[in-house]
Amino acid sequence: MPSQARPLVLKFGGTSVGSPERIRHSARIAAHAAREGRPIALVVSAMAGETDRILSLCEGFEGGLGEAETDLALSAGEQVSAALMALALREGGLRARAFLGWQIPIQAEGPFGRAQISQLDGSLLKRVMDTGTIPVIAGFQGIDAQGRVRTLGRGGSDLSAVAIAAALEAECDIYTDVDGVFTTDPRIVPSARRIPAIGYDEMLELAAMGAKVLQTRSVEFAKARNVILRVKSSFLAPGDSQGTEVMNPKDLAERRIVSGIAYARAQARIRLSDLPESPDTAAEIFAALAQADIGVDMIVQTHGFETQAIALEFSVEQKDLAQALSAVKDVLERLGQGTLGHETDLAKVSVVGTGLRGRADVARTLYGVLAQEGLSVRMVATSEIKISALVQADALEHAVKALHGAYGLEA
Ligand code: ADP
Ligand code: ASP
Ligand code: MG
Repeated sequence: MPSQARPLVLKFGGTSVGSPERIRHSARIAAHAAREGRPIALVVSAMAGETDRILSLCEGFEGGLGEAETDLALSAGEQVSAALMALALREGGLRARAFLGWQIPIQAEGPFGRAQISQLDGSLLKRVMDTGTIPVIAGFQGIDAQGRVRTLGRGGSDLSAVAIAAALEAECDIYTDVDGVFTTDPRIVPSARRIPAIGYDEMLELAAMGAKVLQTRSVEFAKARNVILRVKSSFLAPGDSQGTEVMNPKDLAERRIVSGIAYARAQARIRLSDLPESPDTAAEIFAALAQADIGVDMIVQTHGFETQAIALEFSVEQKDLAQALSAVKDVLERLGQGTLGHETDLAKVSVVGTGLRGRADVARTLYGVLAQEGLSVRMVATSEIKISALVQADALEHAVKALHGAYGLEA
């Protein structure tokens, strides 16, 4: 029975489909939404822990990472949970059918392991929904032009859900194990507060700085396509979750200086000193890193007063360190000058808020708080709406709690 109401995409993450009981409970949440008369589609992640398990199996084989077959294996977790979810919906008396990415089709391009959705045809899903059947789509996967399965990067089912919502002109509810986006990870700071509504840009910055409640690219996509996006808990009774709405900042009722604190573990920093004084030096180094496909985050470049030599420091994810060092070494050899050093076991803590724009005292507060707590800061970087500090890994939780308190985010 076709309905005039706006369709809704419900995405259930790994813990929300972590066992047959959790799948049944999530199916009840979907049934509750369907009873309100809206056409719905579901997107599911692999059962919690499953993607990690498959990944470690693949890593056991030489050259396994970044290969087509690894993506094929990784995508299997979502295949299972999509089928189980369809069974659970049917058990509850609804009509449902499970789909893999290629059946929609969801086209994806880019490196194996972190492809991007390039095209998504919603017509099959619309036809299915028009007949009163609930499609349950395996998240995290698409198909490339050669007909090979590609996965969308960790947390990529969020992106699948948002892209499907955009194709269906639907709203998108992301169900997870916490009741929305909080002022920081509630697992680290139990007094963190739920943020009822947040703008796309702040959410994007929180996600990019490590708040894994939403995958960064899913927020980018939602912003670009104006998808109404909500984060909700699947661990409450159907209809009980209050959650967070991610929206156009114009529509926000409340203005805050700081919205939240995000963190990222397993960071490293690389320091290059005595580099030749030439405008091309840094460009050449970052070109080599980009060529090796390494994301560089915080960057500090200084120019000596007396020697004219350049020093360059930046942070990378620890998993990329070895590759980054080897890319940089090649450049140093070409330049015939420069000293290379690095430090590991670091973490990054970031304060995010649109109210930080143009405020001169932001760095003072951050340094002040961290110094007062006796935490040494390795590097600081700012952007329009965030300030990040690199600290020692074992000081991370301490730093998050201290900043959360200092910026007045406590419940
Ligand atoms: P799912 O498997 O449902 O996709 P994720 O583990 O990817 O769930 O994301 C949910 C987790 O994100 C929460 O359990 C929480 O620990 C973490 N998290 C980190 N930062 C935040 C934040 N600011 N607000 C809410 N959750 C956060
Ligand atoms: N199962 C994938 C992962 O663990 C995708 C997702 O859960 O969103 O990263
Ligand atoms: Mg996730």
